[in-house]
Amino acid sequence: MIKAVKGMNDLFGKKAYRWGRMEEDIKTIVQTANFTEFRTPIVEEIALFKRGVGETTDVVQKEMYDFLDKKGRHIAMRPEGTASVVRAFIEHGISINEPAPFKLFYIGPFFRYERPQKGRYRQFHQLGIEIFGDDTPQMDGEMIFTACRVLEHFKIDYEVHINSIGCKECRPVYREKLVEYFSSKKDKLCDDCQKRIETNPLRLLDCKTCNPKEKYQDIPVMTDHLCEICDDHFKKLQKSLEIFHVKGVIDPFIVRGLDYYTRTAFEIVANTGGSQNAVAGGGRYDNLVSDIGGVDTPATGFAMGLERLFDLIPEDFYQPPMISAGYALCEEAVDDLVHFAKHMSHHPVTFFADYKPRKIKKVLQKADRSEISFVFMVGENEVKNKTVLMKNMKTGEQKLYGQHEVILIVRDLMKAEANFLKKNF
Ligand code: ATP
Ligand code: MG
Repeated sequence: MIKAVKGMNDLFGKKAYRWGRMEEDIKTIVQTANFTEFRTPIVEEIALFKRGVGETTDVVQKEMYDFLDKKGRHIAMRPEGTASVVRAFIEHGISINEPAPFKLFYIGPFFRYERPQKGRYRQFHQLGIEIFGDDTPQMDGEMIFTACRVLEHFKIDYEVHINSIGCKECRPVYREKLVEYFSSKKDKLCDDCQKRIETNPLRLLDCKTCNPKEKYQDIPVMTDHLCEICDDHFKKLQKSLEIFHVKGVIDPFIVRGLDYYTRTAFEIVANTGGSQNAVAGGGRYDNLVSDIGGVDTPATGFAMGLERLFDLIPEDFYQPPMISAGYALCEEAVDDLVHFAKHMSHHPVTFFADYKPRKIKKVLQKADRSEISFVFMVGENEVKNKTVLMKNMKTGEQKLYGQHEVILIVRDLMKAEANFLKKNF
């Protein structure tokens, strides 16, 4: 039997319905905050991620889903969105043509070759937002606040962890301090971290294998080594978060898995106690546009994992839609039902027709077993009188309408739907 590729999921039925509603809500929230949609291809040249995300990151070294195409080009399935957006931003000269700040969002699939488990898949989905052309700490505040707005909408209990990882001036000095600190403890570190001392010492701080931050209490932290400009930025970020009513805790061990961050770095964890509880993360990346070959452009953004978000949304957050269905009770009624279905299609109610003639008992049995709320039936009498019989499956109430009284029917359905929603909230 052919099965889905490992770590990749199908989505259908009620879950697909709720997922679709979740994406619609997210879009409404970010569009209200003036973010416009930005779509980039699923694949890019692998060189983009090596340069953008960083050669020494786990994402590039271990998690890349890559292949050679028919012409031998080295292609990668995108593991994240920022590098692609920056590539497109430069390619289309957006920095020059668009008024700043340029605020965009994307929702779509991303790919990482990781060990699949709950909350960790090889194809997963993210909401990302990016803001180009604004270097203020307040914009970092708004960026983090936007992530919180999404979580608040879904009534999720979360905690925001913020940090500053400095800039080109102060981080190298701190980096040396870290190298010095960990060099004497090399034999107590995991294999990866032993290598990281040379390649990427900041990543030692959030290693989940040898967990140095739990073992040692006196690890030097970046927030004690910020230059004046970074320190000022970090203080103003905290002030703006206060004003936005975002309760952030300072967490000097947030370093982020991608190399491009400067100053602000943050992560949001859900208060579930589970292991895959990081739901969103991001920060400022003022050097990425110029690193990839564009004009120096400050930027800030985050990505939110939608599978993890979905699992946090209360089961009853979305009610299923109210569905109506039309049936013919004899062969002669089929054409009337076609007419009725055509007229119903002009209105914003969920309606479908089943054109195969059936006995009334079968129709009601079928409706009972499904999620149908209203059944519309056309039989011999209804054909003669040009009527349609409606049955409310919840209350058992029946009502006869003229086949042309579709407006009246739609009004009654909408009233019922409003009552139905009221009861459920
Ligand atoms: P983690 O520490 O959990 O590996 P990360 O730091 O690699 O996360 P980011 O690159 O910042 O994650 O991506 C942002 C968000 O995307 C994460 O907070 C998480 O919610 C989600 N995410 C990342 N990798 C996966 C995955 N393999 N499957 C599902 N969701 C993921
Ligand atoms: Mg990861």
